[in-house]
Amino acid sequence: MMGGHHAISGTAAWMALAGSATVRGHEAGLGLWDLSSEQVLAGAVVATGAALLPDIDHPGATISRSGGLLTGMLSHAVSRTAGHRGATHTLLAVVAFTALAAFVNGLDWQVRVPVLGEIEAGAALLVTVLCALGTRALKTVEGRLLPWVVGLVAGLLVAVTAPDTSFWLPAAVAVGALTHLAGDLLTTDGIPFPTWPLTMTPPKRLASPLWQRSGDIAVPLLGNAGSAREWLLCAVLTGYAVLTMAATLALAPEVLVL
Ligand SMILES: [Zn+2]
Repeated sequence: MMGGHHAISGTAAWMALAGSATVRGHEAGLGLWDLSSEQVLAGAVVATGAALLPDIDHPGATISRSGGLLTGMLSHAVSRTAGHRGATHTLLAVVAFTALAAFVNGLDWQVRVPVLGEIEAGAALLVTVLCALGTRALKTVEGRLLPWVVGLVAGLLVAVTAPDTSFWLPAAVAVGALTHLAGDLLTTDGIPFPTWPLTMTPPKRLASPLWQRSGDIAVPLLGNAGSAREWLLCAVLTGYAVLTMAATLALAPEVLVL
């Protein structure tokens, strides 16, 4: 799947699970957790960026090109050791991304910001980085620097409007990263066996596009990455994400006042 498509599917998956606003009288999300509208929207921003994380193993991917030399070098190192669609495309990696987010989020690191007062810097930093990644992938603003400005504004906005990040922030990272795996699972190349690093490879006669000789699995409904079917699915997901976020925004008076 392409970067922008991963990003928007992360947004849509989060809105489907966490959103609870109604669109034209219909409940448009499962509302699994008891979250405020601000938290749902902030989680959508985080899930959008987190849906790009597994592709840090590909030097050409959006995420690898987003942070200049730092992410470029990190990506080359990961790609050399893990290969593309390897370790970072596993359930274990989703656990690791989520644990890392929970750790940074839980740091007792308060910073005084003019006008806004004291904010939790760990959470603001996570939102800033993930929002910048999502903004770049969705090409909502142009250039190298502007996505980071948008990210910083989002990070500060979240620090003010949805300061209790203990649950929704790591949850949104998990949903985003899992959605990435689901997206790649739907393409021909598939993803590593779910119990990776314990991989089961099929006997030769059982090997198929669904369970490949390497042990990778796929449900290739979308065909090759970037196919017309992938574009169509993501057009629908974009419509869903925009509608549900707009409906949620209408319920969030604090964000509107800001
Ligand atoms: Zn991928």
